[in-house]
This record gives sequence, C-alpha cells and structure tokens, in this order.
Amino acid sequence: MGERKRVLVTIKTYPQPSRSHQELVCTAGVLDDGSFIRLYPVNFRYRPYWQWYKKYEWIEAEVEKNQDDPRRESYRPNLETIHPTGEWIDTKKNWAKRKPYVLPLVSRSMEELRERQEAENVSLGIIKPKEISALIVEPDEPDWKPKHQELFRQLKLFGPEQKTLEKIPFKFSYKFTCDDPRCNGHQMMIEDWELGQLYLSMRDKHGGPEIAAEKVRQKFYDQMCAADRDTYFFVGTVARYGTWIVLGVFWPKR
Ligand SMILES: [Zn+2]
Repeated sequence: MGERKRVLVTIKTYPQPSRSHQELVCTAGVLDDGSFIRLYPVNFRYRPYWQWYKKYEWIEAEVEKNQDDPRRESYRPNLETIHPTGEWIDTKKNWAKRKPYVLPLVSRSMEELRERQEAENVSLGIIKPKEISALIVEPDEPDWKPKHQELFRQLKLFGPEQKTLEKIPFKFSYKFTCDDPRCNGHQMMIEDWELGQLYLSMRDKHGGPEIAAEKVRQKFYDQMCAADRDTYFFVGTVARYGTWIVLGVFWPKR
C-alpha cells in the first residue's frame, strides 16, 4: 500500500489528452523533507472541485513509487486520497515564505542536472540561468494529433462527459545560458499550465492568436525575466525521451 506524503505544489503542467484518464497533468513539488517529488498521473480537471489544489498549496496524498517510470522523483498518487490542506504560501515580503522550500534545491546548471540524470535518474530541478536572451514563439500544430481527436469524438458520443481541452497553437521556449564553463546555451520549451491559461484568456480578451502569443511573451519574458527579478526555472524531463523542459518560473524581486 501507499505511504502518505505532504507536498508543497510548485509545478502544474498544461493538460495532455489521455486514453486512460481523459487528460493528464503533471504535478510536482517539494516534500517536507526538502526533496522534489512528481505526482503523476493526475486527471486534474476531472477530480471533484474540492480536490483542485493550487500552486504553493500544501497537499496530502497517498502515493506509491511508480514502477513504470524510472525517474527517481516519480510517484503515482491514489487519486481518491488527494487532500488540499488550504495552507497556501503567499508571496508577501518578496516571496520570503516560499524561498526556504525552493532555493535550497537550486542546482548549478543544466549541465549538472544532466550529469545527475545519467548517474541517479534525476528528472526534476531548479536552476538559475546566467542570461535569458529570449522567449521564442513558434507556430505549432493547431490541433491535437488525429488519435487524440478521435478519442475526444468517442468520449463526446459515448461519455463520460468531456471538458473542452484546447490545443495551444504555439510553442514557447526560453533561450538561456547557465553559469557553467561547459554550457553551450539552451533552448527549452515551457509547459507551465499558467502559460496555457494566459494564452487562452488573452486570446479571448483580445480576439486573436498572434496578440495572445505576444501577451504571453510580455508576461513570461518582459516581466518574469526583467532586470529587477531574480529569475529561476523549474525544469524536468519528459518521460519517454528524457528531454528537459521548463515547467515553471520562480521570479521574486532581486
Ligand atoms: Zn547550460
């Protein structure tokens, strides 16, 4: 049976279609012993509303080591046991209460994380980029893959109830370097749920995909990576390929 863990949620990724669970979100956070944990899979929007936890909220859940996933931080939560505690860590005094959980986990560079990935299956981390030179916006497939469109059609016909899941028609990536002599620079995709939500609300508000993409760039680059911000990236690997992506941004003032 599983063990009960207490997790400070710091990462939620944009939902992906799934045959077994309708859709899946990758959640990650920090345990009260100060190490990273990944909770996967969670069919977040299909959980009852009282289970909808926020970023920087402490949650409790019964979890089991995920045997199909060799990444060291990956645990499978027993979905029925997910319990948001309502203890949410605010950003007062320049994120003073968040820093003690997050900053001790900072790694030197992506190069160091890749070494630890090879040696110990590390798949989550936080890094302090030396220089963030751009947020690159590229057009992406406007719709889900045919197999996922087919899945949505079946669910609409035969149930269970299917919530609209929009495909974001752009790829957003950070271009940055690390403070490490081995660094040749990186361009890494951002999969933060917050980014997808911002894109969709800006598109609806301003009525166009191009302007919405520009609003995302303004928030995730001009604001979050501004000169007066002490910007860090939460990073993690995509299960099948081991490729690193950006899962979230930690951006208190300097
Ligand atoms: Zn690097």
